[in-house]
Amino acid sequence: MSTKGNLLLSSNLLRSAAAISLLFVTSCGQRQTSQETIPDIDLVSTADDVANIELASAYSQDASWQLARGDVMARLQRAERPQAARNVILFVADGLSIPTIAAARIYDGQDRGESGVENVLSFETFPNVALVKTYNTDRQVSDSASTATAMVTGIKTRTGAISVAATQGFESCEQDTVMPWTLAEIAEDRGMASGVISTARLTHATPATMYSHSLSRGWETDGELPEIAVAAGCVDIAAQLLSFRSGDGVDVILGGGRRSFRPTEMGGVRTDGRDLVAEWRESGRGGVSVESAAEFRALPIDGTEPVFGLFSDSHMSYEADRDASEEPSLAEMTGFAIDRLSQNENGYVLMVEAGRVDHAHHGTNAYRALTDTQAFSEAIATAIERVDLDETLIVVTADHGHTMTFSGYPARGNPILGLVRTNDASNPGSTELSLTMADDGGPYTALGYQNGRNPRLDDSEPLTDEMVADTEFMQQAGFPRMSETHSGADVALYAAGPRAHNFGGSLEQNSVFHLMAYALDWHATTIENENLTE
Ligand SMILES: [Zn+2]
Repeated sequence: MSTKGNLLLSSNLLRSAAAISLLFVTSCGQRQTSQETIPDIDLVSTADDVANIELASAYSQDASWQLARGDVMARLQRAERPQAARNVILFVADGLSIPTIAAARIYDGQDRGESGVENVLSFETFPNVALVKTYNTDRQVSDSASTATAMVTGIKTRTGAISVAATQGFESCEQDTVMPWTLAEIAEDRGMASGVISTARLTHATPATMYSHSLSRGWETDGELPEIAVAAGCVDIAAQLLSFRSGDGVDVILGGGRRSFRPTEMGGVRTDGRDLVAEWRESGRGGVSVESAAEFRALPIDGTEPVFGLFSDSHMSYEADRDASEEPSLAEMTGFAIDRLSQNENGYVLMVEAGRVDHAHHGTNAYRALTDTQAFSEAIATAIERVDLDETLIVVTADHGHTMTFSGYPARGNPILGLVRTNDASNPGSTELSLTMADDGGPYTALGYQNGRNPRLDDSEPLTDEMVADTEFMQQAGFPRMSETHSGADVALYAAGPRAHNFGGSLEQNSVFHLMAYALDWHATTIENENLTE
């Protein structure tokens, strides 16, 4: 069985307790044991050992026991892939905290009519998981610019910095200043293909770190640079896509943020009169630009020309609000990029950002955070179908977390966005569920925020089922803030493919870059500084 097959086996096993039951009927035999027997746990080293071993327990037919035994079997059959990766795909969901993953897993399962907790998101089938420390050089709780910079350049930097070092100031905008290399720049320099996808504006912090260097994440377009920055020769983020400094430039770039690339005369916000989309098309590479889902879907997947897709003026829609006739899904954009980029014989690097999990959290609207996470999971499923994990490393992570918590003892099957109803644990066997009340006499939801727009106040109206079922509902928050904040907690990282086994334990965020570079065999390379000037 191929290693790719193992991953699918593992996924199927996790998804289906029934399938595991069948496996164990054949492997466990009919041995009966008494409840008093102490489980006889041997050390096992091969899949055959696992298949043969009979743990002595009266509960060996229990579904959860069998699920766990199937999991052991799948893990023992996994093979490491020590060979170098040809391609790397970095999936980043902005603000995807661990509680968001847990809640989205349940939401996704309940969306299919299941109780939810048993569901597995696409990336949760990956064999390697790490915890990532997200602090930056000046804050315990970071922003997306500094955290994405850590992942794509290999250095930690300060809040707001886009692929520049914490020590760099206005002098760095001068022509001859050395900037940190980015994942996309190194790939292009080596003759690989590169791609950047985001549901946010393409000039927003995370995607911008791949192709630009800016002292401030706020300089998305020319009018946003302060005079001192203009005087120092700094260039806005959108314009830097045109002056990309290595190889032949980013090959596939898809997302939102048209306004920063267009002059005011054409409905954009640029004050310098430049139409960067036209300049990009006319830059000599034969690039194609598309601005609607229809134009995008009409592109042949075997085409070789660079593609620039801008599907909205600012951010693309939340998945819950997306009109599929106007904007492609994250999964569609991911599949297209993989098809296009994999034609390069030297391989590719691709960043795919679900940019708006973060925005929904800032607005304490858990519904849109969960539905955008569901779309993120679907995009990764598309990648798993398309690539060969013997040659493509897939890394799935977040830049930072948010303050959303998942708590309050809801019963299994309780709607994840609903009021908490639960069973009476002091009355075993009782299946009756009742509304759980806080000590102020009001009901509450399982998902809530440490801060945000909707603080729970003494005179607040008690929540009702109707209120929390509204897709615009803002979860309750501990203390008031117009924009809910990021969190400083570690985020999770999931990896599959060549050298994915090196992603494990507790990681510094900038180590993510170095582990991807190692997987690509870039570690034996000197990055030449003379090529760095813009
Ligand atoms: Zn944010």
